[in-house]
Amino acid sequence: MAPEGSACKEVESYPAVADYAIATRKPESNSMTTKSSFGFVGKHGIQSNNGVYELLECPVCKNLMYPPIHQCPNGHTLCLNCKNRVHNCCPSCRYDLGNIRCLALERFAESLELPCKYHSLGCHEILPYYSKLKHEQHCRFRPYNCPYAGSDCSITGDIPTLIAHLKDDHKVDMHDGCTFNHRYVKLNPHEVENATWMLTVFKCFGKQFCLHFEAFQMGMAPVYMAFLRFMGDDSEAKKFSYCLEVGANGRKLTWQGIPRSIRDSHRKVRDSQDGLVIQRNLALYFSGGDRLELKLRITGRIWKEA
Ligand SMILES: [Zn+2]
Ligand SMILES: [Zn+2]
Ligand SMILES: [Zn+2]
Ligand SMILES: [Zn+2]
Repeated sequence: MAPEGSACKEVESYPAVADYAIATRKPESNSMTTKSSFGFVGKHGIQSNNGVYELLECPVCKNLMYPPIHQCPNGHTLCLNCKNRVHNCCPSCRYDLGNIRCLALERFAESLELPCKYHSLGCHEILPYYSKLKHEQHCRFRPYNCPYAGSDCSITGDIPTLIAHLKDDHKVDMHDGCTFNHRYVKLNPHEVENATWMLTVFKCFGKQFCLHFEAFQMGMAPVYMAFLRFMGDDSEAKKFSYCLEVGANGRKLTWQGIPRSIRDSHRKVRDSQDGLVIQRNLALYFSGGDRLELKLRITGRIWKEA
């Protein structure tokens, strides 16, 4: 585990000693009592959460600790990240940390069951401490990231919060209806930068959809791309389909697809080319005129699959 020889031995010797101590000194009933009293804290953890969290919270970074949980010779606990960060010097008492695991706390944590941290957002799952983190990474109640591309927006929230945020802070256009007809006009289409993009939000079937339009370099070739993202989870996004059309002069390009959930980042969808991709030459041809201006009319429709 640990890179240095002597430290590594120390870590390895600890579990052995601890197991031995339990096996020989503690009568069976005693260890059962200990375990069940820990279990009690877990099952009724909702009321006693604060104390439990405090105990398992790293005093330095305030994150919940996961094995290996370390402690100094005086018993101050610390997460592995912080242990590495403080150069082995206990931030509480300044003693050399050494390589001492806090097995008691690790086992205590193992016996706990805690509510998902998105409890207040509607998740009622109660989870073993060590699977909690994994669940929370995929919990369907976890907040969404702001779907606005092109800026590093750190706002997260549920869908109504994000809709208000898009409207108020990003000044995004909001439309009602399941069909759309959108014009994209851009001067100097020959300057294709990665940062050229537009977002419009459509509300239909009581849900919101983000229509993205952007210009970027795909390999060496400048392209335009339009695609739809669903403001909700993937399982629901799959219930919808959409089509996009662009054209002029008797030619037309169409795309039919399934909106992607905004759980998938804007960039991920773009890079997978899951949308209407228009080569620049064709885009300029569709724009008509002198190729000095990009003028595309994109029409589309969203429908619900039976
Ligand atoms: Zn920490
Ligand atoms: Zn200490
Ligand atoms: Zn959850
Ligand atoms: Zn935002």
